[in-house]
Amino acid sequence: MTADNLTHNAQQAVALAASQALLASQQATFAVGGCIIENATGKVLIALHNRVLEAVPGSQAQPAFRLRDPTAHGERQLVDWYFENRQRLALPPTRELTVVTTLDPCAMCAGALLMAGFNVAVSALDTFAGINHNGHFDFPGLPAAPRQLAQATWGYYAVSPPFAREYAGALQGPVYAGQALDAATLGLTSSLFEVSVNLIHDESSNTGLPPSALQDPASLPSSSEVRQALASLSPWSLRVRSEHPRIPGPELAQPLIEAATEGDGDNAVALLDPFGNVLACLGGAENGSPVRTAFMETTRAYAALRWALMNHAQAQVRREAQQYLTHPRHCTFVLLRFPDPTGSEAVMTLGAYGSMVERHTVPSFPSSLQYVLLPPGRSNKEVALLAQHLPPFYTQNVQVAPCQVLDDALVQAVTHQLSA
Ligand SMILES: [Zn+2]
Repeated sequence: MTADNLTHNAQQAVALAASQALLASQQATFAVGGCIIENATGKVLIALHNRVLEAVPGSQAQPAFRLRDPTAHGERQLVDWYFENRQRLALPPTRELTVVTTLDPCAMCAGALLMAGFNVAVSALDTFAGINHNGHFDFPGLPAAPRQLAQATWGYYAVSPPFAREYAGALQGPVYAGQALDAATLGLTSSLFEVSVNLIHDESSNTGLPPSALQDPASLPSSSEVRQALASLSPWSLRVRSEHPRIPGPELAQPLIEAATEGDGDNAVALLDPFGNVLACLGGAENGSPVRTAFMETTRAYAALRWALMNHAQAQVRREAQQYLTHPRHCTFVLLRFPDPTGSEAVMTLGAYGSMVERHTVPSFPSSLQYVLLPPGRSNKEVALLAQHLPPFYTQNVQVAPCQVLDDALVQAVTHQLSA
């Protein structure tokens, strides 16, 4: 990139994204970077990187809890940045912009980018979690309509020898469509990511007690910092409890409906810990950004709360957080409504769930990802098929398997209250 914030070709655009990936690796998070470029001018609007893991400032000398936000992939942040600044900066519409990224987007980011309508240009492929994991540009993980949109607006830059990869993608839409990168730049974007994944993996996984060792936060006194933090997250925290955390009943109807009413959209998500306590029940913040859905908000809010408490200045609070707040992979997520399985939001939701769970856990029945309602005319089978066609990370590692809640009384209570 030149001093005037302009790029002139694919090589410069990806080099800029790669410099962000390098910054990410220095901060010991996943080494992925990206930027938004105005197609007509080559101007860079913003460049940033992955922030899933983050140390507390000043805590680098001692081990600190670092999982800050499992959804803070570069592309998802770029989408939120755009909508947060669109009016203030009078930004052009997304169809006139391209998100240039060092790595093929995961399911969460692919869904978010397609919801927002950006053009997308990619350097390195990701054969495990990337939405173009097979490299064929046929996106088997996307439903028909988002797939057609991706094929019309996304591109994977060509690479000069010795890689000799041909350009794959739309010839109009992505900025610098059809252009090539040098092999060194592709190698940089690819190897930075692979090295960071190998360094990080164990550390980001070992950050919560298993349910068997966990203590029940409902037993905490009202003076407890953990309890107060949960209460500030959501008025329902620790006030509603399901007897079986994987078989929630009609007790969730009111929290879900009220949280949905208070949110910007028409959806809400309840997060239940292994004791069946509601830790949070939140609606969406779609007025800020269309990808800030109830599922994204709930996932991010709980992760942020844990990050703050696990890194608290007082050792007593850190210990309490460790003992009482488990990793969200051990929790149950109950959506009031599952998004339309033929659309991009459903892909984003399943992808965000995968990023949150992150590694293989013993599959449970019923699933830890549940919903009460489906959009009219959609079936549980369509939701299951969507999950089964996601890239290998989601089907093999995480084994994403969303299901409708088992207790009909919950479905009936929600339906009854919504029609009242
Ligand atoms: Zn992603």
